Amino acid sequence: MKRGVTTMQDRPRSTEILAPDDAGIARAAALLRAGELVAMPTETVYGLAGDARNPDAVARIFKAKGRPAHNPLIVHLGELEAAQALAELPQAALRLSARFWPGPLTLVVPLRAGHGLAPAVTAGLPSVALRLPAHPVARALLAAFGGPVAAPSANPSGRISPTRPAHVLAGLDGRIAGLLDGGACDVGLESTILGFRGGRAVLLRAGGISREALEEVLGTSVPEDHGTKITAPGQLASHYAPRAPLRLNVRMPHPGEVWIGFGPGCDAAELTLSARGDLIEAAARLFAVLHAADRLDRPIAVAPVPDTGLGAAINDRLRRAAAPRPA
Ligand code: AMP
Ligand code: MG
Repeated sequence: MKRGVTTMQDRPRSTEILAPDDAGIARAAALLRAGELVAMPTETVYGLAGDARNPDAVARIFKAKGRPAHNPLIVHLGELEAAQALAELPQAALRLSARFWPGPLTLVVPLRAGHGLAPAVTAGLPSVALRLPAHPVARALLAAFGGPVAAPSANPSGRISPTRPAHVLAGLDGRIAGLLDGGACDVGLESTILGFRGGRAVLLRAGGISREALEEVLGTSVPEDHGTKITAPGQLASHYAPRAPLRLNVRMPHPGEVWIGFGPGCDAAELTLSARGDLIEAAARLFAVLHAADRLDRPIAVAPVPDTGLGAAINDRLRRAAAPRPA
């Protein structure tokens, strides 16, 4: 592959494609230590990893993605102890972490004094978003690096999230130092994000763990939080957006539209989230199907997807993909 795009340092560079073996992981950890950025596979989507304690590395993340500076990043860690050293985990957070970490759950919790994170990671807030990813390659990188890693999705801000190495390169080739090739992501949706209000868990973003599963562990309802003042990318109306316009709940596509099906009864669909109507499969395929539809460069129409379980997060992403774009 030939690359030669200009970086923020105004010198040409190419993105190193690293195998997910010991040598590749050691190289990726060395790049992180040098303040460089490495795209890493996680079970949700590919993350754009940088040293969360290094202000220059964090600035590079915002620059590479074109991400607005007021939007805080999720900090990825290898161990629960590392989370407890950075932040105070309320009782409910500990119960959820015991059940769902490592996994696609992010907890927004109060920072401890002396946390050492670059201020831009939390956009200057007194709270931090923490996650222990489950993907073995992400875990190996975190262990080799040995520190907190800030990692938003490895795509230009506002575009479709990357669930395969080719998606990362399509958006960021030549703008990041390395890419650890871990194949396709299993879950395919970003993490579920929870905050805590007076010790009670509230849903900030639907994601890879369903609300039903969270409520079962906590034994209480997990209300959606509407009070947060943060307007972060995942909370903006338009996000995860293909270039072409997109319509939802379409049983009869218009001529010329790329129809994305779900379940039986969509035999005429050009692409499908899951022909057998399986929500886990649909979540894993969602962004790859949107990338594929986007390449066809025609308006997109998506069949109805039930709103239960992972369907809630799928519909959340589809609504944002369909929302009117900022001018
Ligand atoms: P992503 O855009 O997938 O990297 O997810 C980052 C999301 O985490 C943001 O959209 C926020 O909703 C949330 N987030 C990160 N840090 C914080 C924080 N300190 N307080 C509240 N929400 C946060
Ligand atoms: Mg993102």
